[in-house]
This record gives sequence, structure tokens and C-alpha cells, in this order.
Amino acid sequence: MNKILKGECLCGTIKFELEDDFHAFHLCHCKQCQQQTGSAFASNIFTTPENINWTEGEDQISVYEHQTRDFSKSFCKHCGSAVPFLNKTGRALIVPAGSLSDDASIVPKANIFNAERACWLSDGIEAKLFDGFRN
Ligand SMILES: [Zn+2]
Ligand SMILES: [Zn+2]
Repeated sequence: MNKILKGECLCGTIKFELEDDFHAFHLCHCKQCQQQTGSAFASNIFTTPENINWTEGEDQISVYEHQTRDFSKSFCKHCGSAVPFLNKTGRALIVPAGSLSDDASIVPKANIFNAERACWLSDGIEAKLFDGFRN
């Protein structure tokens, strides 16, 4: 049996658990992922559709489906945090890495849509480090 990992949204309305049993971890740099995260890329971990146990707030999830692309996002109605969702084919559950409270054993394996990569990402990674707010 795999370790059980917990996850939740920022406001704590939605909570879930799943097994540490993942088959892919992609960083997606497409423009849509930049827009929906407000950041340089989305961090998506893939598992099987049945590997999720919603412990609180499943009915507080909103789903956005893109009109033309195979793209959707599930998020908390209250705080907007990304939460796990089934892909369009229903064959994979996609877990936003940042929604996990515990560390998964898988690490990123691919940077996809690298052609659309934010022009400022490399400079951001190289920028000076601070442990908290810059003061
Ligand atoms: Zn929330
Ligand atoms: Zn993307």
C-alpha cells in the first residue's frame, strides 16, 4: 500500500486524500496554463481517476471548460485554488502539485509546451533568493 497524501485548497473548504501512486508529473508552459495560474507554468501530477477521496467540500468545486481546447480547471468556489480534476477523456486524474500538503514521491519528468514558455521564467529562477519578503 502506498503512503496516503493529504491536500486542500487555500481556505480549507475542500480537503482530499490520495495514494502516493502517480505515473507522470508535467510542468505545462502553455499560454492557457499561464493565464489560469497567473504564473509561468502549471504543475500537474497524473494518477488514476479512482485515486481520490474527497473528505470535505467536494460540492464546493467549480469547473471551467475551455470552449475550443481540451483544457479545463477545477477550483474552490470560495478561494479559487486549483484542486484535482478528471481530464476530458476521464482516463486520468490531474492533481495540481501545489494543492498537496504532503510531498509526493514523484518529481517533474517533462516540461511541455516549452515553445510557449514565459520569457521571464529563466531570469526568475536565476534571481536573488530571500527566505521571506524582500526587505
Ligand atoms: Zn478554498
Ligand atoms: Zn498547459
